[in-house]
Amino acid sequence: MVPARCLSCRKLLPLIYSYRIHNKSILENAIPNSRTLIRGLSSISSTPVFSERAYVKNLRLANLSFINRSGYKSRPNSHLLDLSYVSGLSLGFGSKCSLHTSSRSCSSNVALTSDRYPNLERGPFAVLNEQDIAYFEQLIPGYVITDPDELQAYNTDWLKTVRGASKVLLRPKKTEEVSAIVKYCYERGLAVVPQGGNTGLVGGSVPVFDEVIISTQLMNEIRSLDPISGTLVCQAGCVLETLNQYVQGHDLTMPLDLGAKGSCQIGGNVSTNAGGIRLLRYGSLHGSVLGLEAVLPSGEIVDCLTTLRKDNTGYDLKQLFIGAEGTLGIITAVSILCPQQPRAVNVALLGCASFNDVVSVFKSSKSHLGEVLSAFEFMDSHTMQLMKENLHLSCPLPDFPFYALVECSGSNGAHDEEKLMGFLEYTLETGEALDGTVATDMTKIQNIWGLRERCAEALMHDGYNYKYDVSLPLSNFYQLVEDMRERLEGNAIRVVAYGHLGDGNLHLNMTTAKYEPTTMALIEPFIYDWVSQQRGSVSAEHGLGFKKRDFIYHSKSPAAVRLMATIKRALDPKGIMNPYKVLPAGLE
Ligand SMILES: Cc1cc2nc3c(=O)[nH]c(=O)nc-3n(C[C@H](O)[C@H](O)[C@H](O)COP(=O)(O)OP(=O)(O)OC[C@H]3O[C@@H](n4cnc5c(N)ncnc54)[C@H](O)[C@@H]3O)c2cc1C
Repeated sequence: MVPARCLSCRKLLPLIYSYRIHNKSILENAIPNSRTLIRGLSSISSTPVFSERAYVKNLRLANLSFINRSGYKSRPNSHLLDLSYVSGLSLGFGSKCSLHTSSRSCSSNVALTSDRYPNLERGPFAVLNEQDIAYFEQLIPGYVITDPDELQAYNTDWLKTVRGASKVLLRPKKTEEVSAIVKYCYERGLAVVPQGGNTGLVGGSVPVFDEVIISTQLMNEIRSLDPISGTLVCQAGCVLETLNQYVQGHDLTMPLDLGAKGSCQIGGNVSTNAGGIRLLRYGSLHGSVLGLEAVLPSGEIVDCLTTLRKDNTGYDLKQLFIGAEGTLGIITAVSILCPQQPRAVNVALLGCASFNDVVSVFKSSKSHLGEVLSAFEFMDSHTMQLMKENLHLSCPLPDFPFYALVECSGSNGAHDEEKLMGFLEYTLETGEALDGTVATDMTKIQNIWGLRERCAEALMHDGYNYKYDVSLPLSNFYQLVEDMRERLEGNAIRVVAYGHLGDGNLHLNMTTAKYEPTTMALIEPFIYDWVSQQRGSVSAEHGLGFKKRDFIYHSKSPAAVRLMATIKRALDPKGIMNPYKVLPAGLE
């Protein structure tokens, strides 16, 4: 038996006999008697819940929570595990997303959104009643959840910053079921919120008041894969990491990758137009999604599920749903173009003296690595400190003010490695970097990526996380961080910056032990005004959701917002589809 600690209540919990191991030897080293555990495991088959960069792929807690292929059934008193102190055992973000979602003790500490935002008014929607529940139960028997304990997780966002009060969660399996549910809600005037993996970071995936939650969790069927063209067709609820593992079996890769891969779903990814670490290489989902199927607010099914690369027959309707954050309809299936899987991946971590040096390293990486450059991420020293303090991760380099993580992937490992070494030498000779290390074996690559991919998880250990995701010109990119640090002096535990520098995308995060209105007042609207003055975007990749909708004008013209509202009204005249999200109050 291995002790594990709940991140929320700090209680030690027994963890038994239920691992699915990615790298057995690592676990054997880390956990005494793990051979027994591993044997016990092989009989359990379930969907991986952790990030692919984690060694433990799945687990079950005795008497605590149970995860199976069709989602998870929770039991009371489930806890959020912290295994990070077990040396050599690394857990991905999925651990938090998947396990903690059923924890009442943890979720119920989050203030209700209606309390935290007292000026917010509930829309003129109908109130759920017994007949509604009976109707849903007859439509999808056994998949109507009304247990308040179980609902907590679906009412609360991943960041634990907003919480709704929905009385029902529906888990359809088929498009026709989604259609029937939505049609009923439309006619009754019941508001709904579509939910995928619930890893969204802007409060878009959970109800604000008592909206009906429609989860795509059980819509996880892969319909087809054409290994020649690389076109994958699947239901919206397929978990990104599962899809990636599936297409890898056909020498392909998913065109997107993000830290929440173990829990987020392709429908959620498309609805948020998620960016992530591969955008630099494969571009945005507006390019890779070939088609989709969606259920409109009226319940009508729109089939745009083409697998064609070229199709200029009228308006490209799928683009409307990509990034609409569930406000125009529910995506039920997706057709997506998967690139060839690279044969070799190499990663370098470089230490730099200044942010300008990081930018120079980026420029050099483009000229030296060219077509094999697949990711360029940056972290400041405050981020590295956070990773060491909160997750006990170690950095292979000594302390530097800034770090650049450079990944290249291509078809010839030796050739790519040589290129990467040449690039590293160049940056060291010119002084752009002060030190660097190259990782070619998977364990070291995963360890280096862990330093970047687990930042969001590490921040949660501080307490409350004020999370910002902005696009800025590189010339002024880090100035915002310095200004914020000065402004928040004494009002935050830390101010950390990291992000997809290759895409001009800064993740700026502040933390306090608990939500502090004074800290919030120092951050907003200051940050949005700052970004707007630089003609940046107030949301680079996370979307607007509930939390950022009122700042849309900082990045979009009034005419553009009016046109969005016109589209919304045309598709959803009653405004039932994910209300209070994306469009500012009064325009939904
Ligand atoms: C650790 C961590 C790392 C992350 N890294 C990144 C990153 O690098 N890049 C990035 O862009 N994001 C990142 N995110 C944010 C988040 O993972 C993405 O926004 C993701 O695409 C959300 O997918 P989901 O299935 O969890 O959607 P949810 O959170 O369930 O929903 C997100 C939004 O989409 C809507 N929605 C969900 N499914 C559907 C559907 N089928 N039809 C219509 N609307 C739907 C919801 O209503 C909501 O508005 C990260 C999050 C975490 C926790």
